[in-house]
Amino acid sequence: MRIAAERIERLHDLARAAAMEDDQERARYYVRLARRVAERNRLTLPRKFRRFTCDDCDAYLRPGRNARVRLQDGHVVITCDCGSQARYPYEGDDERET
Ligand SMILES: [Zn+2]
Repeated sequence: MRIAAERIERLHDLARAAAMEDDQERARYYVRLARRVAERNRLTLPRKFRRFTCDDCDAYLRPGRNARVRLQDGHVVITCDCGSQARYPYEGDDERET
C-alpha cells in the first residue's frame, strides 16, 4: 500500500513537471498511470492530485495555462480547456479529506 502511495506521489510530481514544460501529452500519461495505480490498489488519490487534474481528459491543470479558476459562492471552480468543470469548497491548505 505504502509503495503504491509513493508511486502515485512520484507520478504526480512527474505530471506536474511535464505540465510545466507544456508537454501536456506526457503529463496526461502520468496522470493516467497514477489513476490506474490508485484503482488497482484501491487507494484514493491525494487531494492535490484530484484538484489539479481533469476528470474528463486527464490533463494536469495549470491555472492561466490550460485551466481557469474562479471563486464562486465559497467554492473554487476550475474550468479545464476541454470544458469540464470541477467545484471544490474553498478552504485552507490542511490535508483534511473531503
Ligand atoms: Zn479536461
